[in-house]
Amino acid sequence: SNKGATKCEGSDPTPGTDPFEDMVRRLRGAFNLGQTRPAAFRMAQLEGLGRFLRENKQLLHDGLFQDPQKSPFDSDTSEIILCQNEVDLAIKNLQTWMKDKPADTNLLTKLDCAFTRKEPFGLVLIISPWNYPVNLTLVPLVGAIAAGNCVILKPSEISKGTEKVLAEELPQYLDQNCFAVALGGPEETQKLLEHKFDYIFFTGSSRVGKIIMTAAAKHLTPVTLELGGKNPCYVDDNCDPQTVANRLAWFRYFNTGQTCVAPDYVLCSPETRERLVPALQNAITRFYGDDPQNSPNLGRIISEKHFKRLKGLLSCGRVAIGGQSDENNLYIAPTVLVDVQETDKVMQEEIFGPILPLMTVSSLDEAIDFINRQEKPLALYAFSNNSQVVKQVLDQTSSGNFGGNSGFLYMTLPGLPFGGVGKSGMGRYHGKFSFDTFSNHRACLISPSGLEKLNEIRYPPYSSQAQKL
Ligand code: NAD
Repeated sequence: SNKGATKCEGSDPTPGTDPFEDMVRRLRGAFNLGQTRPAAFRMAQLEGLGRFLRENKQLLHDGLFQDPQKSPFDSDTSEIILCQNEVDLAIKNLQTWMKDKPADTNLLTKLDCAFTRKEPFGLVLIISPWNYPVNLTLVPLVGAIAAGNCVILKPSEISKGTEKVLAEELPQYLDQNCFAVALGGPEETQKLLEHKFDYIFFTGSSRVGKIIMTAAAKHLTPVTLELGGKNPCYVDDNCDPQTVANRLAWFRYFNTGQTCVAPDYVLCSPETRERLVPALQNAITRFYGDDPQNSPNLGRIISEKHFKRLKGLLSCGRVAIGGQSDENNLYIAPTVLVDVQETDKVMQEEIFGPILPLMTVSSLDEAIDFINRQEKPLALYAFSNNSQVVKQVLDQTSSGNFGGNSGFLYMTLPGLPFGGVGKSGMGRYHGKFSFDTFSNHRACLISPSGLEKLNEIRYPPYSSQAQKL
């Protein structure tokens, strides 16, 4: 029987009942029996996850096309391949990651064995958003499985296509006593959060992040929060405008701008702005054609609510490129805004769509001051031919991630810890960092049971100890 994710779990709660009670009890029971601890079990689940990705590639593509309207290229590069790479890396390194790590001893513990044991937390909850619904659900899952936890996944209810594939297909590849998919939106998620979890891993908005952390605090459950915000991008006068424009346009309009690490706004001098606008126009036309609405490489806005919000932002400053929209189609053209002020709405909230405001500053120092007056961002970008300028931005600011003359490709490297700081979140994952995130780092010291004579010196009465010394 399919006990993992069935449609009845969480999708149609009768008032007054708890739709997740059985699920939580089943998974906790399995964890308490030690089912997920052996390396062989973890390996088998990781292999199952790898098989899921390979055998359901078409279904995942269809699901991703249905909701965030991703092209197969975007789906492969930013979702499926990244998950597969994480699975492969975990399988390759699992034995090494699981090994106890010896620690140095001191005079008092010379004969003892000191080590860190990475043990699973127990029952983990992973809550994910709709914008990269496969990646942001399954990459954390890889770490949670590798670390030996039981896991409930709560994918976004908004990315319906992916939610369905995860709920109906994934459980067939995993042990259903240990892994389950919970369905639902805000209301169901809050019901789920009343249960005690041993770890909660949340990706989404800062607003909901606070709700998650408040619920976790009731049980003192540790959390990772992968949140969003406004990611600044400084463009120096010393640059090749077309190169910068190509890179900026790709990273800003990828996934129709609905990317947590996309450059959110540009800070540059008025002269650089004059050179950047035609270069951006050139890049946008080359990438998406004369009428981007017909481009197969540009998706749509996820919902009417977000469409309306983004349309409202188009009236900030002056439209230099794009600015068209079509409500029937939830289409917003790749847009560049100029003459934008700090107080404009477009500079106050995370844009999360295909709109790029250019705000002018008179110097690098002014740009750095501006950046440091805002909340600490998830990502920060700097473009310059002068490596000293890139270095100065890096040295004098703070952010979760940093790209110099680049966009968010750091995300594709499992050797780099991905995460936010301040309002953009807390905690790190990807590769071994995921394994460490989902493990309790247990400090262990084991003494020989004999050799008691050597301990005599430690014990009271201390006066006699002083005499011994
Ligand atoms: P969201 O915060 O609205 O939703 C995320 C998840 O929380 C969903 O599963 C949703 O069902 C659940 N949720 C929503 N409202 C809730 C509530 N009131 N109570 C309990 N649960 C609730 O985020 P979203 O709109 O799906 O995604 C966009 C946001 O996510 C952006 O802010 C973006 O920057 C951020 N994001 C961050 C990262 C990252 O890695 N740091 C990645 C992608 C997206």
